[in-house]
Amino acid sequence: TRQTIIAGNWKMNMRCDNAVALAKGVVAAVGETPSVEVILCPPSVYLSEVGDAVAGSAVSLGAQNLYAAEDGAFTGEVNAAMLSDVGCGYVILGHSERRTLMGETDADVSKKLHAALAGNLVPIVCVGESLEEREADDTEKVIERQINGSLAGLDEVRAAGIVVAYEPIWAIGTGKTASPEQAEAVHAFIRKELGKMFGEDVAAQIRIQYGGSVKPSNAKELLGQTNIDGALVGGASLKVEDFAGIISAG
Ligand code: 13P
Repeated sequence: TRQTIIAGNWKMNMRCDNAVALAKGVVAAVGETPSVEVILCPPSVYLSEVGDAVAGSAVSLGAQNLYAAEDGAFTGEVNAAMLSDVGCGYVILGHSERRTLMGETDADVSKKLHAALAGNLVPIVCVGESLEEREADDTEKVIERQINGSLAGLDEVRAAGIVVAYEPIWAIGTGKTASPEQAEAVHAFIRKELGKMFGEDVAAQIRIQYGGSVKPSNAKELLGQTNIDGALVGGASLKVEDFAGIISAG
């Protein structure tokens, strides 16, 4: 029994005042005893303020990235200890936008994963194929490479607590969602790969979120699939009504 986990990835959006208002709106919509886990991932400059807005509520705070080093001469970067210090419990790692725009590799993601775990943050590790890769029938090959590379060096005990997010790049911000069947097929494949790495009992505990144009109208069907344990939501997490609609489908 994996608890459903719904995270809002705000990406590079919002200003302090509407970020705080959105967070307060989500807190109010979620109530005190939600049946699903809810996480907000604002831009790092607003983590403290959003953290204050969700403090004492059922909503948790997450970051969108970290740098895998201890304090030091790394201009412009933020590490796991700092994220933890401002109240983060989670961190998104290896999002496709970071892989494609910032050149993050699976090896980078693996380093970040170990830094996150060392800093007591739950990593949300993103994988997903491009349209070209899907059309070339390379989806499983790409996912296998990303899972193996990004989770390299992870032990079974820690593996059980991580979250994986399957985000097909062609479905991100395009309004084009993977069908529940398409998504479920890849989620089942990911769990099989996790089983090879960590054993089936551990793989059965790892939550796998779907991301890519999730909205209130398609959330229920997606979340109803056997191996879909939550959603990583971009655009629709920027409006209280939309995000609340997705949460109530969970
Ligand atoms: P959209 O929900 O805007 O498609 O974004 C998905 C995503 O990338 C979440 O991390």
